[in-house]
Amino acid sequence: MPIDEQNYYLSTSEIREISEILNLAIENHRKWFDTLHRSIIFNQDFPKDILDELAHTKCQFGKWYYGNLSQAFRQYEEFNLLESSHRYMHDYARVLSQAFLSNEAPSIDIYNKFISFQKEVIRLLQALHDKLINLGHGYDSLTGLLNRNSITLILDSAYEKSIRHRTSYSVAMIDADHFKKINDTYGHSVGDDVLKTIANHMRISFRKSDCIGRIGGEEFLVILPETEKEEALTVLEKYRESISNLKINSELIIVNATVSIGISQVSQNDEDSWQAVKRADYALYNSKENGRNRITVSE
Ligand code: GH3
Ligand code: MG
Ligand code: MG
Repeated sequence: MPIDEQNYYLSTSEIREISEILNLAIENHRKWFDTLHRSIIFNQDFPKDILDELAHTKCQFGKWYYGNLSQAFRQYEEFNLLESSHRYMHDYARVLSQAFLSNEAPSIDIYNKFISFQKEVIRLLQALHDKLINLGHGYDSLTGLLNRNSITLILDSAYEKSIRHRTSYSVAMIDADHFKKINDTYGHSVGDDVLKTIANHMRISFRKSDCIGRIGGEEFLVILPETEKEEALTVLEKYRESISNLKINSELIIVNATVSIGISQVSQNDEDSWQAVKRADYALYNSKENGRNRITVSE
């Protein structure tokens, strides 16, 4: 799980620009949907590129999506899901239009699929848009923790401070174990509840002066100011144990979850604020390799 610092960051102006693109994509796909229906009913004026197999790459949104995009988007599930939903929507529109243009009876099954992908595309665009707006506000919408953008800024200032005052701090990377399996077994909304619980538990387990951020789907970063790594280990060990003993209630079922953790202490020799995080991430990787539900401290 190599951690990639720069590419994840979106500036406020990028956020504004992208949220406009997403809004426009919602509006354009709605208009396109209406036009397509009118074309089918009156058998004329089909939308541009409707029969093109690459239509999904040619609409304004497709050009943006398949263009030169920041890796930052890859952290959003909605962004990744949009690829197939958007493509299928255009594919089914093509099949439908082809049937009409050659005077064949279209299948209701194809039509239903087209409608459901169209709805899914609008839902995903809207959800991605909402997440970006939250990104601009600094907090993660699911857990209420700091989002990746803001914890990155805090990390930078903690690093500057520690270099200037020769003080130390520790960082911890926390990753939920086998989280994909939780989603696959119980469904996404139970998965969301588990994430919220893991996050809420961080809030009550760490000091007020510690900063906690959600930096990826089921990955969290904790900054522990003026804390040596041994001390960080004590606090995080308590947290790890309490999560593993927790019975998480969601939708009338009880779920057990565990987390793996990597800890590292910033050093005066570090070249930038992310070096300690990379070490913690490597330590986390060792925790996973050695069986999960454990902590590794970077030497
Ligand atoms: P490991 O123990 O090695 O970390 O395994 P894992 O399954 O936790 O790791 P993996 O990276 O394979 O899967 C992470 C999963 O987390 C996949 C993704 O669908 C899910 N996920 C990411 N963000 C969210 C979210 O916001 N809600 C839910 N419910 N699931 C999410
Ligand atoms: Mg995981
Ligand atoms: Mg992970």
